[in-house]
Amino acid sequence: MRNCASLASGIYNSSRMDRELTAEELERYRRQMIHPGFTAEHQARLARSRVVLAGVGGLGGAIAYGLAGAGVGHIAIVHSGGLTESNLNRQTLMKETAVGHSRAHTAAERLNEFNRFVQVSAHDAPVTEATLLPLARGADMIIDARHNFPERRTLNRVAVMTGKPLLYAAMDGLSAQMALFRPAETGCFECLYPDSPPDWDPFGFPVFGAVAHTIGALAAMEGVKFLSGYGALSDTLTVMDMNDYGIRRFRLQPLAGCPVCGKGSV
Ligand SMILES: [Zn+2]
Repeated sequence: MRNCASLASGIYNSSRMDRELTAEELERYRRQMIHPGFTAEHQARLARSRVVLAGVGGLGGAIAYGLAGAGVGHIAIVHSGGLTESNLNRQTLMKETAVGHSRAHTAAERLNEFNRFVQVSAHDAPVTEATLLPLARGADMIIDARHNFPERRTLNRVAVMTGKPLLYAAMDGLSAQMALFRPAETGCFECLYPDSPPDWDPFGFPVFGAVAHTIGALAAMEGVKFLSGYGALSDTLTVMDMNDYGIRRFRLQPLAGCPVCGKGSV
């Protein structure tokens, strides 16, 4: 799945798919490559990896920063709309002068400044199947950093349809959670959350930047592990309480008859 040069379209620059790491890149990533067992091949896999990141707010921005810093080679950002004043308490990829401008493009510019070895594409478009499918087919992972259930379900459907893992992260006030769905092993988002909270207001829940960044960093590490092939992958829903710093983990499992990932579904 990771060597998908044959799937590359105009979305991704195929000329860089199988390239070797340069001396500059080896120096850039030296401090993570001295970690015991994390080899040049793991790093090269990151450089070849392609992810679709839906949502580049406080949470998605932290994920993007973690992945770009680690050297994930291709990041496609999907986020519709412009930056507002009230976004700025948490969105570290943004800046005051970008208020009113596209968040997807602002994030891509910042990430390109941060790491010149990473290709970032910005898609200022709604999170729909039409937007996601062309990107997802050539990707190694889809990342859900959105804040509402309809878009999360769209991302989950696209992940199952294209056979790609879905890295999920979410937060609400001082509570945050993260999971990496691989349907055959863990079930999918729909298995975990078959129902949506009827009173969920995607623009009305409290957000502290530090909570979004913490769970975003955790998700980024899970992404780095999956994409590089290094380390143990989580098969749980990890839930953090940032009030007392308690962490609980719940084993994920496929739901019999799941309408999304169950037998005979999409
Ligand atoms: Zn499912």
